[in-house]
Amino acid sequence: MLCSYIMSAQILDGRKAREALLPGLMEKIRGLSFVPTLAIIQVSDRIDSTSFIKAKKAFAKKIGVNEKHIQLAENISQEKVIDIVRECNADSNIQGIIVQLPLPAHIERDIVINTIDPNKDVDALTAMNVSKWSEGRGILPATARGVRELLKFYKISLKDKKVTVVGRSELVGKPIAIMCRNEGAIVTVCHSKTLDLATETKKADIIICAVGKLGLIQSKHVKRGQIIIDVGINRKEDGMLAGDVDFQSVKNIVAAITPVPGGVGQMTVLALFENLVDICGNI
Ligand code: NAD
Repeated sequence: MLCSYIMSAQILDGRKAREALLPGLMEKIRGLSFVPTLAIIQVSDRIDSTSFIKAKKAFAKKIGVNEKHIQLAENISQEKVIDIVRECNADSNIQGIIVQLPLPAHIERDIVINTIDPNKDVDALTAMNVSKWSEGRGILPATARGVRELLKFYKISLKDKKVTVVGRSELVGKPIAIMCRNEGAIVTVCHSKTLDLATETKKADIIICAVGKLGLIQSKHVKRGQIIIDVGINRKEDGMLAGDVDFQSVKNIVAAITPVPGGVGQMTVLALFENLVDICGNI
């Protein structure tokens, strides 16, 4: 009798990795001569931004770091937002600043971001910090650092691996692609104009998807043995969160996959505070 069985992918559990890495972060925090403070500037009350900020605030509390949440009205002027960023720059009690993105359409993201003091730019998005991490120096944007640490935790090396990054935004896809390249991977970047996504994803050892489209990656995009890192966060009709990858349709094909929720998002929050502590270590 022929015996057939279905292999299920290894779950790359962000919660587990974060818990395991927490003592190291706490140790570093204890080694500082002061308690760091992260300023979080939120313009508007978008539900997704509010829930991301809630997660950051809860983690700050857990690790004993201060946070200062500055919530601003959706219709605030760009000049006023810039003034508030400058106030945070000048405040010696604040070591890290993030402006929660996206910003409302009337505010130019790059102008506001580049007002942040690069020495307090905890998500490494100012032009000065972008040029540093592009060359493999300085801190990485939190999502890219989180992906790197999750892979490292599961002993998955990027060196000489073929990595296809789907999504090329300045904030997420691009830093992840550059991080992978700097770790020695051979990187292909796909985007909304990519003609044959499945061909590009199927040739990879590791697929990293950061698009924001529910179920974009289906069984036809993957092959046996691949590692799938799902960065996307989407809200389903029932209100639950899900990634860009159709988890159910790929889980019996690929070798390993991150869940959403409970995958990269967990690591991004950890990485943000690791960045804060690194900044504080340099003061
Ligand atoms: P974005 O809209 O700025 O960029 C999306 C990218 O996807 C673009 O480069 C676009 O070209 C590409 N794209 C769009 N349609 C495509 C298609 N059909 N095929 C291939 N590429 C396509 O979004 P973003 O800010 O980069 O965020 C992407 C996703 O990552 C979102 O779901 C966001 O919520 C999530 N995110 C997750 C974390 C985390 O920690 N897990 C952190 C930040 C962002």
